[in-house]
Amino acid sequence: MLTKELKQQKLRKRGMYENVMKQFNTVADLINLNPNIRKILGITNNELVIHFPVKMDNGEVEILTGYRVQHNNALGPYKGGLRYHATTNTDSVKALAMWMTWKTSLTGLPFGGAKGGIQIDPSNYSNSELERITRRFTYALGDNIGPDIDIPAPDVNTNSQTMAWIADTYMSTRSPSDRSNNQHVVTGKPVGSGGLEGRDRATGYGVYLNIKFWTKENNISLKNKRYIVQGFGNVGYWTAHFLEKDGAILVGVQDAYGSIANVNGIQVEDLQQYVLQNKGSIANYPKSQPIEKDDFYALSCDICIPAALGNQITEENASKIKAFLVAEGANGPTSVEGEKILLKNGIMVIPDILCNSGGVIASYFEWLQNRSGEFWELEEVLIKLEKKLKKVFKKVLKMSRKRNVDMRTAAYIIAIERIEKSYLQRGIFP
Ligand code: GLU
Repeated sequence: MLTKELKQQKLRKRGMYENVMKQFNTVADLINLNPNIRKILGITNNELVIHFPVKMDNGEVEILTGYRVQHNNALGPYKGGLRYHATTNTDSVKALAMWMTWKTSLTGLPFGGAKGGIQIDPSNYSNSELERITRRFTYALGDNIGPDIDIPAPDVNTNSQTMAWIADTYMSTRSPSDRSNNQHVVTGKPVGSGGLEGRDRATGYGVYLNIKFWTKENNISLKNKRYIVQGFGNVGYWTAHFLEKDGAILVGVQDAYGSIANVNGIQVEDLQQYVLQNKGSIANYPKSQPIEKDDFYALSCDICIPAALGNQITEENASKIKAFLVAEGANGPTSVEGEKILLKNGIMVIPDILCNSGGVIASYFEWLQNRSGEFWELEEVLIKLEKKLKKVFKKVLKMSRKRNVDMRTAAYIIAIERIEKSYLQRGIFP
């Protein structure tokens, strides 16, 4: 039996696909996108659904379902994360794959867009079960992934350990002489296994940088600005870590298990220590007050950072938001209707495909590092990331001023026009 919450989440996932299509169609109309290219970009190239057996710790076999959707590869190999979540299904992964295509195009990377995942709640499985699940799924994906074909990365509930298992499984299926040439079949690996220094913090650092660029552009100081974060995983935590260094104050956090607030501020590192000892959850953090789930987005604050799942800011709660800026750490956290309300209320939105692109940019660095057998240092990585993100941010801002549109529309225009140009140059085979 599905719980009420899970049912709601599933509905939100369906909404994600509608959202991304609405966003795409609006911009396609606006820029008069070539009708043939519109047809191509409006569909997903490949949709894989894989049912695979895994032996559990108690000896029983469970059949699990995994997904990989490859949206478009006009600009290079498919690229995008793998998430382990009970609501993962074809529709949600299709939407997320499309967002990856826009994200890699916007940021000028030589990649297309894909997304995948397994329909499980990972908290129901032991570590060794998760290892077998991951390895068996990788094996089942076979040659549908590869360093020049489709390159997965971490996403919701997956991490560098997951990537190490995938890399090892994939490399073990190659001939011994070819093994090390295949390390970059995934990015987001542990540093000791071909991973990039700083890949762990790259998405959150990018979210923070985008907020910094935006506030600087508007002559606003981050000092004493109050912010709320939905999701205190990799993205939420690292964003908060960097914002705190600039003097911003965390006043509310929400995760899958609870919602907390403290008008006097929550110490980011202290909360992180608590989370690590509390099975990954912020619930019942003692130096805060618990609040109702539905009151979270109504908290008084300056900056609001959804950094968890899709379709969280909708027409139902967007009018409650008091922040002047929404910075999207998650993919697709704001519905089209929700965004209309935000914009009408004068709230600016830094769109996901720009705001959280630090992760995939760092993935590109890791892929390059593996290809050339180099090893980049943390400082170098962060400098390169900042330089790249600043350039993209400025480009989006310029486009939004030139065409008098919001930042999401501007980002979509840049992303879609880049792919359109490439198709027009090459033509359609045969
Ligand atoms: N899962 C991340 C995202 O949604 C990273 C993808 C990647 O590095 O390929 O952007």
